[in-house]
Amino acid sequence: MDKNNKKGSVEVNIGSNFIHDIIDRHLEEGVYDRVHTRFPPEPNGYLHIGHAKSICLNFGTAAKYNGLCNLRFDDTNPAKEEMEYIESIKEDVSWLGFDWEDRLYYAADYFDEMYEYALILIKKGKAYVDDLSAEEIREYRGTLTEPGKNSPYRDRSVEENLDLFERMKAGEFEDGSRVLRAKIDMASPNMNMRDPVIYRIAHIPHHRTGDKWCIYPMYDYAHPISDALENITHSICTLEFEDHRPLYEWVLNELDLFPNPPVQIEFARLELTNTVMSKRKLRVLVEEGKVEGWDDPRMPTLSGLRRRGYTPASIRDFAERVGVAKNNSVVDVALLEHCLREELNMTAPRAMGVLNPLKLVITNYPKDRVEYMEVENNQSDPSAGTRKVPFSRVLYIEQEDFMENAPRKFFRLTPGKEVRLKNAYIIRCDDVIKDPETGKVLELHCSYDPDTKSGSGSANRKVRGTLHWVSAQHAIPATIRLYDYLFLEDEEGEMEYNSESVKVLKGYVEPSLEGTEAGKRFQFFRQGYFFTDIKDSRPDDLVFNQIVPLKSSYKPNK
Ligand code: ATP
Ligand code: MG
Repeated sequence: MDKNNKKGSVEVNIGSNFIHDIIDRHLEEGVYDRVHTRFPPEPNGYLHIGHAKSICLNFGTAAKYNGLCNLRFDDTNPAKEEMEYIESIKEDVSWLGFDWEDRLYYAADYFDEMYEYALILIKKGKAYVDDLSAEEIREYRGTLTEPGKNSPYRDRSVEENLDLFERMKAGEFEDGSRVLRAKIDMASPNMNMRDPVIYRIAHIPHHRTGDKWCIYPMYDYAHPISDALENITHSICTLEFEDHRPLYEWVLNELDLFPNPPVQIEFARLELTNTVMSKRKLRVLVEEGKVEGWDDPRMPTLSGLRRRGYTPASIRDFAERVGVAKNNSVVDVALLEHCLREELNMTAPRAMGVLNPLKLVITNYPKDRVEYMEVENNQSDPSAGTRKVPFSRVLYIEQEDFMENAPRKFFRLTPGKEVRLKNAYIIRCDDVIKDPETGKVLELHCSYDPDTKSGSGSANRKVRGTLHWVSAQHAIPATIRLYDYLFLEDEEGEMEYNSESVKVLKGYVEPSLEGTEAGKRFQFFRQGYFFTDIKDSRPDDLVFNQIVPLKSSYKPNK
């Protein structure tokens, strides 16, 4: 267990999943005899931690019921999609640990069927070509309190509709000049049912279909058809689609082509404190250069979290702990950090790293002597073994671990007082060497007590503080990046961009880390969990990202 988080201090929600209750009932009552879900991202940006929740839910649900889960790119909008996003999404889903096997689909691959089905609706008198402009359509739609008005084109004959729709497809008309609408009910209390647009004209080539189409189906029409064509049983989506469910059902009912059509089930989207999650807003950060890219270690994208040092297991654990709810709520981002700590506490090798070095000379320690202290690699895991850490006369400690005029409760180093150096000796600070001009502390002169070596049995004199250190002649210089949240919440709860969310330090790490490959995780004593950056760190030029500090600020909700 993470020492900083006593067991039971975090509320977990494992098992409370109303979606699984619904599925249990469906299987019991024979509504379905199998479970087939899908994860349907629109390839208009990189995936974020909210998508991780949906991925875990969809793939996890399929696994639980021995079913299947598809990966489907919801690429019905030709203007926004890019290959870069498709590749990154595949990489992220795999990295999270899920496998779509041979079930990778694109909504665009169903454009032929969608067109044929539109003809069916037209022939049934359930769809019509409308010549109103987008603005007029909006005016005619009415409001929440007022019913809409029928379009003057609503009662066109089937023949005229077929002719116009075919000519729309043939490219005879300008973008925005006509649309195909479902003929439902302009007075419906549900605005989504007031003759929704199901096809629009857009003379834009598509990444999969090229110039074949200049009409494109709308999401509410394309989605149920894509689900049905893939034999999906449970189409899980976020709450904002609840009011679209009648339309989802209308489309499949009117087409009447699928003997066992899918059902849509909505759940609350994940929201996190100090986190902006919409792909659109994240894209703005990238485009304005406020972050290094989609994979900036401060980004809540899966590629950003991966580069920061998060593990797939910690994200899956987080997704499970937040559970699945029917009401929107905001989750404390500290819960995500807690999941990472809990995993790395068990698995990350320990090391010492000094972030803001201050030179310390042990004046009574022989000049040429080096002692190798035998140190456990992970107290939580004896099988991780031990390593030798060199100790010598000149060390670096953390600047903030020394204070010249310290208050009584300062248990670190201060003139005349003793502290223990982790895994080594008790030292006392005798002298403070300062720059005569600026008064800045340049180095500390200390003396050590040779009888207090750690682990030597005689080492049990009590001192309050234990400091980390590295031997100066053995230390490996390293770049160390500390992160704050990319967004801070102001008093009104509005998210504000934090321009000081990264601090780059030049520090030192112990020599056992020499040559560390990129992508390795460590716990630095007293400083938290660190990761050798997968883009910037080289074995001979180490760059560490702080994933999280050691202590959690997580307080469970009362
Ligand atoms: P964004 O606004 O970030 O672009 P989106 O919902 O438009 O989100 P899609 O690519 O359409 O993004 O989403 C793919 C799937 O992921 C959908 O089923 C969607 O409901 C789900 N999803 C997106 N954001 C979240 C979230 N914050 N929490 C849970 N699920 C989410
Ligand atoms: Mg979207």
